[in-house]
Amino acid sequence: MNQFLSRRTFILIPTMSILKIIFNPMQVLASSLPSKEEWNLSKDEWKARLSPESYYILREEGTERAFSSQLNNEKRKGIFYCAGCDLPLFSSDKKFDSGTGWPSFWDSIPGSVETKVDFKLIVPRTEYHCSRCGGHQGHVFNDGPLPTGKRYCNNGLALRFVPD
Ligand SMILES: [Zn+2]
Repeated sequence: MNQFLSRRTFILIPTMSILKIIFNPMQVLASSLPSKEEWNLSKDEWKARLSPESYYILREEGTERAFSSQLNNEKRKGIFYCAGCDLPLFSSDKKFDSGTGWPSFWDSIPGSVETKVDFKLIVPRTEYHCSRCGGHQGHVFNDGPLPTGKRYCNNGLALRFVPD
């Protein structure tokens, strides 16, 4: 058993190192590129627009602490906007309680988010970001409820909620 484990580790570690080297250029980009030139702001311009906490999430692909966002328990009808550029991203009728501690949705407003694969935790995850300003929102998983089966796990600090 031990021998098997050590052999596995022996193979796994170099493989992951190689993967990290191959995918490293993706991590050099602090965040995704905006689709619109007017949202191609400098670091300082973003820092002036955003709180330090939101800057860390949106522009450096950070993650807020679980259960830290008031939006986690937000149950009113309304729209969740990108905290970076105010693009409408999610509607309250697609929100559900995932129990994870982050605001969760089973679908986004069509065209509002784009995805890319990230390897920050070595295991590939599907990152998604605002399609207009490129601001990081969260990760999408395939264990959500029907009809989509998707779970958009969003940082509350990356959103601004406006009730109807
Ligand atoms: Zn945006």
